[in-house]
Amino acid sequence: MTDALDRIVVADSAVDAVDVGTLPPLGVVPKKMHAQVIRPDRYGDPASAFAHEVIDTPTVGRGEVLVAVMAAGVNYNNVWAARGYPVDQVATRQRRGEVEDFHVGGSDASGIVYAVGEGVDGIDIGDEVVIHPGVWDADDPWVQAGRDPMIAPSAKIWGYDTNYGSFGQFARVQAHQVMPKAAHLSWAEAAAPTLVGTTAYRMLYGWAGNTLTEGDLVLVWGGSGGLGTQACQLVKDAGGRAVAVVSDDERGAFAMKYGAIGYINRRDFNHWGVPPLVDDTAGQKEWTAGVRAFGKRLWEIAGSREDPAIVFEHPGAATVPTSIFVCQPGGMVVICAGTAGFDAMVDLRYHWTRQKRLQGSHGTNDEQALAYNQLVIEGRIDPCVGRVLPMDDIALSHAQMGRGEEVFGNTVHLIGASGPEEGRSADWPRPRPTAGN
Ligand code: NAP
Repeated sequence: MTDALDRIVVADSAVDAVDVGTLPPLGVVPKKMHAQVIRPDRYGDPASAFAHEVIDTPTVGRGEVLVAVMAAGVNYNNVWAARGYPVDQVATRQRRGEVEDFHVGGSDASGIVYAVGEGVDGIDIGDEVVIHPGVWDADDPWVQAGRDPMIAPSAKIWGYDTNYGSFGQFARVQAHQVMPKAAHLSWAEAAAPTLVGTTAYRMLYGWAGNTLTEGDLVLVWGGSGGLGTQACQLVKDAGGRAVAVVSDDERGAFAMKYGAIGYINRRDFNHWGVPPLVDDTAGQKEWTAGVRAFGKRLWEIAGSREDPAIVFEHPGAATVPTSIFVCQPGGMVVICAGTAGFDAMVDLRYHWTRQKRLQGSHGTNDEQALAYNQLVIEGRIDPCVGRVLPMDDIALSHAQMGRGEEVFGNTVHLIGASGPEEGRSADWPRPRPTAGN
């Protein structure tokens, strides 16, 4: 637990925000709110990049919704935002004409709708919701043409590319991001899985020709992490077999709890990173021995000499050569990140002769998010809550995530919720704030 008082910065003396852990009357939006804020002069270690500030509550425009955040989920994207690398999000937005000189991140939320903008239909004040992270301009010609909006030039990730994510008391979202909260989940549980779950869903179901099918063997990197635990569950739910890759036995056991049929400890191998050049015969021999041993371990878990139909990738530079090597002919390595580095190498001999697919994937569209959320509502996917922490530990959780610590499911911070159990159907309907004027 960090000393929250050390990081409190009151940005304006005219503070009329409500306390964290409480809510104003339903539909009454305070002028100010508490938030964990990143500013460019603090970019660097997430431990010091975030600070507790009281800032103006955002207003909503056409097609937008203001959500009182009950709990906020942690994702790796705000480790990047805190570092200001590889993208300086504040500077990028200012170049687009936005005035704010700060970033309120957070791409996962459960909460209550407090205001709706002009032109919003089907969403009412008081609705209990979760938010998916895909954002785009409704008038983007790509979107207008009916194409996948997450590939549109205007596509962004809410609470990473955009401001006013879930690390403040009120989040500003586009109406199409709003989805019903599963009644059986607490606020904390509901806030945990949506970004990683919808990303995993798109990776596994979004790429025609290589979509997840019953019986598929799927290799899942980081099997105990946020993405990994969702991928393992989605694979199991589809009747497939996920094999997790992890860095210790405790993480392996965690991945198996969430559906993996077995795990590989990557510390048992050392062929990681960019392989030796193709004409370095001795180096190639050594690397090939390493990757073959890894593949053999995978076969042992699968119980046959079967290669994975899908490799679920996100470490990137350290692992892509292995992923391409072990992937089944005609199979797909689908990748959504480069946590271990961006400059991955592909040995094209294995890529083209075996006709494998290296597919980038990012975020989610509405259809995929709703399909994933339905699985959560039906109780088929567990949100995999790792830890539930107070709002003022947001810096701590991101610093730990950046160091690769505490990698068990999804970390959640309480914002408006008073405790980790609040919000589930047992106490449903929860004592609501009474309506304001
Ligand atoms: P996480 O919970 O912190 O998990 C990261 C996992 O990566 C860990 O489980 C770790 O597993 C594994 N890992 C770390 N270094 C590795 C290495 N050198 N080799 C192999 N595995 C390594 O993070 P997450 O939420 O799953 O997110 C993972 C990445 O995906 C982040 O970079 C995030 O920004 C990105 N992401 C992208 C999207 C998108 O839409 N594009 C969406 C969600 C997440 P072990 O150490 O146990 O092997």
